[in-house]
Amino acid sequence: MKLDDKVTLPDMVTQMKREGIEVIESAAGVHFATCPLCNDTDMSMTINDERQIFVCSNCDRGGRIHTFIKYLKGFSSKQAVLYLVKQAAIDMANEKKEAQKIINSLEANNEK
Ligand SMILES: [Zn+2]
Repeated sequence: MKLDDKVTLPDMVTQMKREGIEVIESAAGVHFATCPLCNDTDMSMTINDERQIFVCSNCDRGGRIHTFIKYLKGFSSKQAVLYLVKQAAIDMANEKKEAQKIINSLEANNEK
């Protein structure tokens, strides 16, 4: 899908944790999780943080974060991307708020 070349979607591991999925990090930047898309009990899902892709060796599903959300929520591709864009916008707004807080406290210190 072309959309996520233009739009920054939330980080895969961050989003999966937000969806209540327990993600375990291995030493090499590879993460494992029990796949919520099938009857997995074995931590069959591998998440490559660098490439931002997941793959489940149990149900053979894999792809980018919007593909995961599509399967997880039963969304269409478009719905999944919109959902993630919204999440990214919330993250950005929160970051902005944090940045403003820091700026405010720096300015307050300067005035003293
Ligand atoms: Zn699976």
